[in-house]
Amino acid sequence: MGKFRANYLITMKDIVRDGHKLLHQPTREVPLPLSEEDRETLICMMQFLKNSQDPKLSQQYKLRAGVGLSANQIGLDKRMFVAYFQDEQGLEHEYTLVNPRLVSHSVSMVFLPQGEGCLSVDRDIPGIVPRYERVRVKGYNLEGDEIELKLKGYASIVIQHELDHLDGIMFYERINREDPFRVPDNCRSLT
Ligand code: ZN
Repeated sequence: MGKFRANYLITMKDIVRDGHKLLHQPTREVPLPLSEEDRETLICMMQFLKNSQDPKLSQQYKLRAGVGLSANQIGLDKRMFVAYFQDEQGLEHEYTLVNPRLVSHSVSMVFLPQGEGCLSVDRDIPGIVPRYERVRVKGYNLEGDEIELKLKGYASIVIQHELDHLDGIMFYERINREDPFRVPDNCRSLT
């Protein structure tokens, strides 16, 4: 029986860090229909993101603010993640995705001018992380319904960061090693 059941409060001690085996290998597909345990885990994960963005709770529980969290970041070999954030237009996005897959993407790419960070990486790693400007992603939600997301800009970046986690890829692996700030062709800064 896992520990991430209803009302469990995820804190930074539950977050596995860079170097942990589970962060560097592809995760396993989640059996459907979703088990009650997996459902409760996803709810705990989403609550963590919301707590981490709440000024009082994040201070009280010493949480680093996060916009996405994948199951392998809390030590579970499961292909599922949650994301909660506001995009560049101030629109709120809230996603719980099980067995997500990238179905198509734009040729054009974007990157965050400030670079990317990760709850599993405790240091700043500067450099350009190229991401598709637009993506279509299919997966299953908490209710077990198949859903398709069409995302662009910041939302597209966040979801690709989480998809990468599920494939065992860290954001810094996408930074050009010789020249971290070299802008690839077809790639522009998201401003
Ligand atoms: Zn991350």
